[in-house]
Amino acid sequence: MKYDVVVVGGRIGGSVSSLFASRDDVDVLMIEKRQEIGTPVQCAEGTTLSTFKILDMKPSRRFINSYIEGATVYAPDGRALDLEEVTGRNFLDGAGYEGYILDRKVFDKHLAIQAAKAGTDIMMKTTVKDLIRKEGKVCGVVAKHLGKIMEIKADVVIAADGVESNMTRLAGLTSPNQPRDIGSCAQLELVGLDIDPYRLNFYFGRKIAPGGYLWMFPKGEDTVNVGLGVRSNKKTAYQYLNQFISRFDDVTPVELNIGGVPLSGPIDRTYSDGFLVVGDAAGQVDPVTGGGIHTTAFCAKVAGQVAAEAAKKEDTSADVLKKYDDIWRERFGKNLEISLKYRNAADKLTDKDMNALAEFLEKNKMENLSKISAIKFLGKHPNLLKLIKDFL
Ligand SMILES: Cc1cc2nc3c(=O)[nH]c(=O)nc-3n(C[C@H](O)[C@H](O)[C@H](O)COP(=O)(O)OP(=O)(O)OC[C@H]3O[C@@H](n4cnc5c(N)ncnc54)[C@H](O)[C@@H]3O)c2cc1C
Repeated sequence: MKYDVVVVGGRIGGSVSSLFASRDDVDVLMIEKRQEIGTPVQCAEGTTLSTFKILDMKPSRRFINSYIEGATVYAPDGRALDLEEVTGRNFLDGAGYEGYILDRKVFDKHLAIQAAKAGTDIMMKTTVKDLIRKEGKVCGVVAKHLGKIMEIKADVVIAADGVESNMTRLAGLTSPNQPRDIGSCAQLELVGLDIDPYRLNFYFGRKIAPGGYLWMFPKGEDTVNVGLGVRSNKKTAYQYLNQFISRFDDVTPVELNIGGVPLSGPIDRTYSDGFLVVGDAAGQVDPVTGGGIHTTAFCAKVAGQVAAEAAKKEDTSADVLKKYDDIWRERFGKNLEISLKYRNAADKLTDKDMNALAEFLEKNKMENLSKISAIKFLGKHPNLLKLIKDFL
């Protein structure tokens, strides 16, 4: 078997790479180890309009659970800050609906369907076990389907195999996934939680979600994704989550998701001879928010296009495939770098600092503090003063 492009992994990174490579008229095979695209969901399902713009796609009721109009952030002491009030403008710039809660099971499958319609072949319940290499160049994969081992040749292999990426390691590229840099996440989809269905809620605090945060993302009128990501060995993410939701009476879960998210920023190099890596496997995730849908969509689109172009020119060397790395870093490299700096700085904040930050933002909103008053206030909180000085 031989394809121009073989894509490993069949969720956002895989389907989008396959879709855009197929649209450029090359033979594409996408391989997914699970028996169904999009399950289990390992995502809070929040995204913005930019994802659909990247994909040249209109947001559709078919794969959107709800529209988001605002967000509230809770400090460890319970102080609530409405983001639009703090920033003085609507959350997510506000022009119409900019924030969405997807139905990832439907959305991911929809993307795979679009790829198939564009010409991608898809193999389900097939696990890629190894890369085939010739003189150091990747030129295919070894896969296992229902006990049968097969070799599939390819001009370019795109790894979209997620946070636990084996392909990246096999290709000799550094993996972003040092254990301390993986956010451990747990999420329950809950029935019976009475919150504004058009608002996101975020909770911070070392007792709630050490090294991360807790989210509540409403999925329309009936259910809410309540989840958290932590970087701590004291308890599991699921234990922290249960501890938080024990404050609510009469809530019932209809789904439990456990997963990890890479929070150390992108790997140093996302290409080699005959090989590209996208999405969580490449660490293309915002280290502060853990959001990776729209970055993955952009990077996978470029990967598909660059792979197709290289295959058609019959030159899939690292020198040619480097174009992918250049384009996505130009668009997101700086943002991810700054975000990692924020994350490292925020790691040093205590709950007291976070409470003080919330108090400061609230005070500033009410009184429009002068520079002297602001410095006086922040002077009592050296960690905060340093954080603000570093980033203003
Ligand atoms: C709990 C949680 C909440 C999140 N919430 C949000 C959010 O609200 N908004 C947001 O923007 N981002 C969020 N993210 C991040 C986002 O989900 C990811 O960045 C995004 O899904 C990455 O897509 P991907 O295609 O790179 O990887 P994945 O979605 O991990 O897909 C990898 C695919 O590869 C398959 N695979 C793996 N190995 C092999 C193999 N050897 N052979 C064949 N197939 C293989 C897997 O089965 C899987 O289907 C969240 C992450 C987590 C864990």
